[in-house]
Amino acid sequence: MTTSPLCSGSTTPLEEHHHSFRFGIIGGGWYGCHIATSLRALGFRVKLFEQHDRLLHEASGNNQFRLHMGFHYARHSDTRTQSHDGFQRFLERYPSLSRSVQDNIYAVPLCDSLIDYGTYRTIMVSSGIHFTEGAPLGVELTNVAGTIYTAERVLLLSKARAYFEAELKEVLALGHRVSHIENMDDGVPIDGERFDFVVDATWGHYARPPDVQVIYEPTLLLYYEGPPDFPAVTLVDGPLCSVYPTEEPGLFTLSSVPHTPLGQFDTPVEARAVRDSVDPQVVAAKRALMEEQIELYLPAFPTLFRYVGPQLAIKTKLIGAHDDRTCQVTRRGRIFSVMSGKIDTVFFATERILSMIEGSGALSVNDVMSSLRDDIRVVNNQTKKRAAGARL
Ligand SMILES: Cc1cc2nc3c(=O)[nH]c(=O)nc-3n(C[C@H](O)[C@H](O)[C@H](O)COP(=O)(O)OP(=O)(O)OC[C@H]3O[C@@H](n4cnc5c(N)ncnc54)[C@H](O)[C@@H]3O)c2cc1C
Repeated sequence: MTTSPLCSGSTTPLEEHHHSFRFGIIGGGWYGCHIATSLRALGFRVKLFEQHDRLLHEASGNNQFRLHMGFHYARHSDTRTQSHDGFQRFLERYPSLSRSVQDNIYAVPLCDSLIDYGTYRTIMVSSGIHFTEGAPLGVELTNVAGTIYTAERVLLLSKARAYFEAELKEVLALGHRVSHIENMDDGVPIDGERFDFVVDATWGHYARPPDVQVIYEPTLLLYYEGPPDFPAVTLVDGPLCSVYPTEEPGLFTLSSVPHTPLGQFDTPVEARAVRDSVDPQVVAAKRALMEEQIELYLPAFPTLFRYVGPQLAIKTKLIGAHDDRTCQVTRRGRIFSVMSGKIDTVFFATERILSMIEGSGALSVNDVMSSLRDDIRVVNNQTKKRAAGARL
C-alpha cells in the first residue's frame, strides 16, 4: 500500500520550524493584526506590539472603510488585480467584518474625470470585475456621463477591533511603543526581547520602508449624518470626491482627492505634528471646498446631510504620478517592512513574508542531494516486477 505525502507525516521546511520561530510584530493596525493571526494559525509564535491601548487606532480606524474591489483604480492594473483577489479572500476569511451596501454607485463625471465613461467601463470589463450599469433610483446625480452599480462593501471597524483583540489577547503588548530594534545575524531584539524575525507593520511610522520611496500625508475626512438608505456615491476617475457609509447606519464620510490631504511631508514626525495641530479654521475652509465639490454632482447633499465632525489620519503613500496602491513587502536581514496600500491587500503581505522566509537560508534545503536516479531505479524495478508477474 502506498501512502500519500500528505498523510505520511512528512513536513515542509516551513512546517518544521513552526514551533521554533518567534515573530515580533510592530503595529496593531489591520496589517499587524492580520499578519499576527495568520502566522499564529500556521503554528508560529508571535507577539504584537502596539503603542496605543487598543488595536486599529491609527489609519486602520480612521479611513473611508471601503472594502475595495478595484473600481477605484482604473489607472493602475496591479492595484485592481490585488483588490479583486483580496476582496474575495476577505469575504472568506473575515465573513462578519464587512457588510453590503444596498446601492453602491460609481459615477464618471462629464468633464472632470481623467478618463471618459466608455474607457472606464472598458477597463473594468477587461479586468473581470463584475458590475451592472444604470442610473441610480431616487437620487439625482448631475454633471455625470455614466454610472455603474458595484458590490463593494463597508468594513465594520468595531467588530474588527473586537475580533482581533479576542484572537490575539495572549500575545498582545498594548501600550508598548517600540523604541529600539537591532538586526543581528541570529535574531532581532525588540527593546531587548529576542525574536527570530520582526515585521514592521507601522505603515512607515517606526522606520521608513527600505527600497520604496514614500511620503507622509496628513488627511481630513468629514463625518455627516444622512438618510440611512442613501447610496454610496463615488466619483471617478481623478481629483474627485465620494460619500460612503460607515458601520453605523446613517453616518457617512465625505472624502475628496484634492481637499482631503493636509500637505505632504518627508517624515512621519512632521505629518503627525500637522495632524495633531489642525486649526478649526482649516477644517472649516476644507469643509466648504468639499461640500462645494460634492454638490456639483449630488445637488441634494446640503439638504440631506448634516455635518458631524472631522476625521484625521496619516496616509503613507508611494511616490509616483501613477495611482499605485498595491501592498509592498521589503526585507532587510531579519526585518520585514510592510507598506500597505489598502485593507483588502492584507493577504498579499503575509504571503510575501512567508515566501521570503521559505526562499532564505533560514529554511535551507541546499544540502539535499538529487534523488532522481534512485527514483528511476525504483520505478524501473517495479515495472520489471509487474512485467514478470504478468508472465506468470
Ligand atoms: C483618509 C484615508 C482613507 C482611506 N480609505 C481607505 C478605504 O476606504 N479602504 C481601504 O482599504 N483603505 C483605506 N485607506 C488605507 C488604509 O487605512 C491603510 O491601508 C491601512 O489602514 C494601513 O494599515 P496598517 O496596519 O499598515 O497601518 P496603521 O493602521 O496605521 O497601523 C500601524 C500601527 O502601528 C502602530 N505603531 C506605530 N509606531 C509604533 C511603535 N513605535 N511601536 C508600537 N506601535 C507603533 C500605530 O499605533 C498603528 O496602530 C485609507 C487611508 C486614509 C488615511
